[in-house]
Amino acid sequence: MLESVLIANRGEIACRIIRTAKRLGMRTIAVYSEADADALFVRMADEAHLIGPAPARESYLRIDRILEVAKATGAACIHPGYGFLSERAEFAEACAENGIVFVGPPAAAIKAMGLKDAAKALVQQAGVPVVPGYHGSKQDPDFLRQKAYEIGYPVLIKAVAGGGGKGMRRVEKAADFDAALESAQREAQNAFGDPRVLVEKYILAPRHIEIQVFADQEGNVVHLFERDCSLQRRHQKVIEEAPAPGMPPEMREIMGKAAVEAARAVGYVGAGTVEFIADGREGLRPDRFYFMEMNTRLQVEHPVTEAITGLDLVELQFRVASGEWLPFNQDDLEIHGHAVEARLYAEDPEREFLPSTGKLWALDFPEGEGLRIDTGVQPGDEVTPYYDPMIAKVIAHGATRHEALAHLAEALGDTIVAGPKTNVAFLKKLCEAEEFRTGQFDTGYIDRHLDALGAVPKAADPESVRLGVLRLLEQDFDTRQYKSTVQGGVESPWDDHDAFQLAGQRRQGFPVMVDGERIDVTVEWPDPRATHTAMDVVIHWADGTSHLVGDYMQRDPRNFVVTDDGVIVLNAGRQTRVALHDPFDVDLEHMDGGDSIKAPMHGKLIALFVKPGDKVEKGQRLAIVEAMKMEHALVAPADGEVAEIAAEPGTQVAEGARLIVLKTEE
Ligand code: ADP
Repeated sequence: MLESVLIANRGEIACRIIRTAKRLGMRTIAVYSEADADALFVRMADEAHLIGPAPARESYLRIDRILEVAKATGAACIHPGYGFLSERAEFAEACAENGIVFVGPPAAAIKAMGLKDAAKALVQQAGVPVVPGYHGSKQDPDFLRQKAYEIGYPVLIKAVAGGGGKGMRRVEKAADFDAALESAQREAQNAFGDPRVLVEKYILAPRHIEIQVFADQEGNVVHLFERDCSLQRRHQKVIEEAPAPGMPPEMREIMGKAAVEAARAVGYVGAGTVEFIADGREGLRPDRFYFMEMNTRLQVEHPVTEAITGLDLVELQFRVASGEWLPFNQDDLEIHGHAVEARLYAEDPEREFLPSTGKLWALDFPEGEGLRIDTGVQPGDEVTPYYDPMIAKVIAHGATRHEALAHLAEALGDTIVAGPKTNVAFLKKLCEAEEFRTGQFDTGYIDRHLDALGAVPKAADPESVRLGVLRLLEQDFDTRQYKSTVQGGVESPWDDHDAFQLAGQRRQGFPVMVDGERIDVTVEWPDPRATHTAMDVVIHWADGTSHLVGDYMQRDPRNFVVTDDGVIVLNAGRQTRVALHDPFDVDLEHMDGGDSIKAPMHGKLIALFVKPGDKVEKGQRLAIVEAMKMEHALVAPADGEVAEIAAEPGTQVAEGARLIVLKTEE
């Protein structure tokens, strides 16, 4: 076995690799950026070395820095994890040149699969079916439009260098083709520095089915069955499972063989995934699946395969990298039960899944048989704007699909996370959705059911506000009680802070901030003997009041998370921040009478389309902020005139920073 490993990655995957490496007796070396100095993976590794500032470009993507550390520490191998440098052929080459084992395939295999068009041509020669389409090098719009016509609409335009769903456009009819082509090429150029596209048939009711393959250095190749990753949002995976529901055994065999052929075609070594798309209109059928691409690395969703095969894929990667043979043949492998993984993200489903950053005031996962949590963060850690905002992967394994899904839903319900907004409630609803449970879904399912899944803007939750106010009152009450005893031990009714008055019903005005909005609340003591936790609460919303009655003592205390300025109340996974309003914290933004357009998150202002004095219409795009690898357009909230521009393109902007002031016409 290799003696030591440098992990060229961060977060949950770095933790996961370190765990296996330690079990195998390897010395573990972490590299980290300034933003990760206190991260869990840094603490877990035997040693850790700073390689640069927070932006990945200056740290996790710096091949030179990583190799310097590898040489200085005498690392026997480098594990790239996924993302970052994992599919960069020049990184694999640089490792080889320095006599360090790259835990992954040979550089030539990475290159061969790196461009979608070349990969398709290659596997087609090996007899693997590919989606009908044009995968050639001509890029002339008239030619591509003609090809789209021959293929038949709907078609999909895809970036040749694509990844993460970028540079991809579905086109319904010829009239829309030119505009879609132009925007796909522009996005591909921006994202990959390569504007080339291919055009293929859009598969209807598409199911994303991928096969895990493994190869050793002796040319033995096996597959570890399939994963179904059809639950996607904007072409990004949300929930993954193994095996695929409704998979006919003969189709599994045919797909498995095709994947092995694809791997052989490029002389593959190590763990890889061959992604296929299947036409699911009549269920899964052996003659209706097509090769999409091969990912030449470990996948985020590998734990579901580990669950059903009982194998540790990272251990196998190390064994293969150190020259060992695969310890089994295809016939030795079997599927045990069913596993489902949900990706828990710091993002806000109510705001189009905008990534959410900030301190994790609480983070607690359930434990149990058949449950696995892969995470790279701990309570108190910060979700920063620099990297993918995944908090954890929650994986459930059961005897049947039904059991695994029920287990996962329950685990998500028992997960406590407070601070950044998360998709935990959304994931739970997905697990419980009837169509998903009965296997009636395709890659468009989520986008078609956003309403039912609760991924739409919602008003503040009055019950959470009530509970938050009572919690704040209780806190206040406790500190005062404490004061009266320390100051001489005499209890004074004047210290009780219970709105005591000599006549009439006791009422107390309570200005609070609810998720950043100022709201007035009145607390009423229904009877003179009521305690501070059994009071009526009247919330004065901008458009009416809610009068709420109830207790809160029997609530699970885990649903109240105290922060530095108030409390976060959790209700079925939804977070409501309630803080005392600070009268000195004047809202300067609204004092100028204009409408401010603020940065929705930490990021970089990459484009500005207006200048002071411009007239704009409601909904018009004003600027683009790039954050967490995504572009967010800022639009005018109303008709008006640009009064002020507060930032220049190219600058980093903080969440909530005022970028543009509009004089609106009301
Ligand atoms: P990327 O490399 O950008 O992730 P992929 O080629 O892996 O792109 O495709 C991502 C997703 O896009 C797939 O999982 C599937 O949902 C969808 N997709 C890709 N090709 C097609 C197609 N021909 N028809 C329908 N959907 C497709």
